[in-house]
Amino acid sequence: MSFIPVNEPLLDGNEKKYLCECIDSGWISSEGPFVREFEERMSRTAGRKYGIAVTNGTAALELAVRALCIGEGDEVIMPAFTIISCAMAVTNAGAVPVLVDSDIHTWNMNVDELEEKITDRTKAIMMVHTYGLPVDADRVLELAEKYGLKIIEDAAEMHGQTYKGRPCGSFGEISTFSFYPNKHVTTGEGGMIVTDDAELAERCRSLRNLCFKKDIRYVHDELSGNYRFTNLQAAVGLAQLERLEEFAGRKRAMGQYYTQHLKDTPGLILPVEQTDYAQNIYWVYGLLLDESIQGTNLDMQRLLSEEGIGTRTFFQCMHMQPVYQKAGLFAGERYRNGEYLAEKGFYIPSGLALTQEQMEIVAEKVKTAVGKMDRV
Ligand SMILES: *Cc1c(COP(=O)(O)O)cnc(C)c1O
Repeated sequence: MSFIPVNEPLLDGNEKKYLCECIDSGWISSEGPFVREFEERMSRTAGRKYGIAVTNGTAALELAVRALCIGEGDEVIMPAFTIISCAMAVTNAGAVPVLVDSDIHTWNMNVDELEEKITDRTKAIMMVHTYGLPVDADRVLELAEKYGLKIIEDAAEMHGQTYKGRPCGSFGEISTFSFYPNKHVTTGEGGMIVTDDAELAERCRSLRNLCFKKDIRYVHDELSGNYRFTNLQAAVGLAQLERLEEFAGRKRAMGQYYTQHLKDTPGLILPVEQTDYAQNIYWVYGLLLDESIQGTNLDMQRLLSEEGIGTRTFFQCMHMQPVYQKAGLFAGERYRNGEYLAEKGFYIPSGLALTQEQMEIVAEKVKTAVGKMDRV
């Protein structure tokens, strides 16, 4: 029995060809021509004017927060249930993340609870689209407008996804993407900031590259780091981007297959297929154990692992992070839906290289495994 990994990327397009061009031409650093081309294509795909490619999605968030001059004394509202990259971008800047619970159906930040979190110190809302279904962006944009807040859109999981027909990555001041191998477009490691604001773009370019001054090199007014993206990464990215529509279609088809085969399985809650603003793109195919099941995601994942199926737990909540608890952040705060997702959610193999045959096996094994779980 061969193990079915939770994710395997698909690299059988022009990746090798473009990489060979890098080697043959000697352009392997961040100065190579593919970087600009990838930035242009990617930003256009996201409906934006400017793209700044960086080392990874975490760095993209960090630079986005810094580019907006968010710092000491500022607050940024974000979901409790997300990846540490979101909170870390804010705390590394000296600002404070203010958390909002999830909607238990969409698994996104509950927009109804957003307004009550806004204070005099709120500078921005970090809108994180989770697992394939976008946040109800118009409602967030309205609040940002009403209170004069910036929006940082984390579209790491949203390549090729739209909200009311508008591309994800096009909302608010600044948006970010990741190109980690489990995202719809990968460059191995990589990320990008996209924006329509020329000044913000320029600031991000400077932050990406040690804050070199434009006119005099080796003189610095500000400190940053080296977040440069290489021509080799861009070569892979360009080949991936050529297939974005195909990839998005494939993801949706996978999600629909799983939903079709798992929908009547007692004990399981499936991802929302469709809302009035978007159709799920199933960045990953997540499953949630319902209240009839006694165990946690870890019990279920153990059963699946024994059957040769790779899985991952859902995110852990920010208010539960030991590092933030030790720092005295989020003391006494509870976000019940986020906690439920973290304890009962996991995702099953749903990478682009997954075959039809593998999907059939996964669906069968999931049904069997959930049948073996203890009931309340
Ligand atoms: C993957 C991901 C990131 C981080 O991207 P890396 O490239 O792994 O640093 C940030 N936010 C979300 C929502 C993600 O899914």
